[in-house]
Amino acid sequence: MVIGFIGLGIMGRPMAKNLIKAGYKLIVYDKFAKSDDIIALGAEKASSNKEVASKTDLIITMLPNSPHVKEAILGSGGVIEGIKSGSIVVDMSSIAPAVSQEVGAALKAKDVSFLDAPVSGGEPKAIDGTLAIMVGGDKQVFDTVKPILEKMGSSVVLVGDIGAGNVTKLANQIIVALNIAAVSEAFTLATKAGVNPVSVFDAIKGGLAGSTVMNAKIPMILEGNFKPGFRIELHIKDLQNALDTAHSLGAPIPLTASVMETLQALKTDGFSANDHSAIVRYYEKLAKIEVRK
Ligand code: NAD
Repeated sequence: MVIGFIGLGIMGRPMAKNLIKAGYKLIVYDKFAKSDDIIALGAEKASSNKEVASKTDLIITMLPNSPHVKEAILGSGGVIEGIKSGSIVVDMSSIAPAVSQEVGAALKAKDVSFLDAPVSGGEPKAIDGTLAIMVGGDKQVFDTVKPILEKMGSSVVLVGDIGAGNVTKLANQIIVALNIAAVSEAFTLATKAGVNPVSVFDAIKGGLAGSTVMNAKIPMILEGNFKPGFRIELHIKDLQNALDTAHSLGAPIPLTASVMETLQALKTDGFSANDHSAIVRYYEKLAKIEVRK
């Protein structure tokens, strides 16, 4: 089976490699990133999003945000110009649920099926093929592509209609951001009080306060390693989508609004390209102390 894959960034590149490893032939395109390593593994390089669509019946996209997905799929030279009736498009980017619905409707008019299937787990899980994938769309289409998604993720769950995948991802991103902020605030306090943060981690990670987020981010914070990972600027994008979606529904999310301002302060301080564990830097600046080994 030939799969079209668009977007070879931090996440898309290892995801595409896992599909090649599983035996699929790939036709790939990225507007900016190089694809030499993917081509060396046997993939074919296309020269536009349109060309990818014209040569495949299943197209996967992994792009930064809503405008990029709209451009790549609905824009000039986009997927929609080359796509055949009966094809399937699976967008695995984290974007606004309303845009997933808009893209899904435009493709439906061309007799093309669409799923929104954002992921959680970051680069390490993209490399291992153990992402958590949350999918919105038609059950029959989901059943068709599930075996392919399982080559990139260890959990593949249909959560509802088109847009529901990205609503679930927004919920995921709220929980992750607030969790990092809570961990950062607490560890800054403990360090300022003179307690070794390594001991605090050892003492509480197995209790109710422990979390996957704490286990992943505290070792990075203790080392002062803020290499992404998941960039602050991408989390700003996700929380903006969460705030817009929440406001359009009449569901206020005050804690998210507060952490958004923390992220904005970090952006002003020049940390946009840091991993989101750099939220601790905001608290460190306030308390005039560093949470390090
Ligand atoms: P990235 O910026 O590294 O990669 C995106 C790629 O899309 C880039 O290589 C870019 O050149 C390409 N691109 C942009 N516009 C294009 C277009 N019109 N046509 C073709 N290619 C285009 O981003 P990433 O970290 O791989 O993230 C991708 C998505 O996955 C984002 O929505 C992000 O929020 C989500 N996500 C990221 C992580 C993470 O840890 N990085 C984790 C989970 C989810």
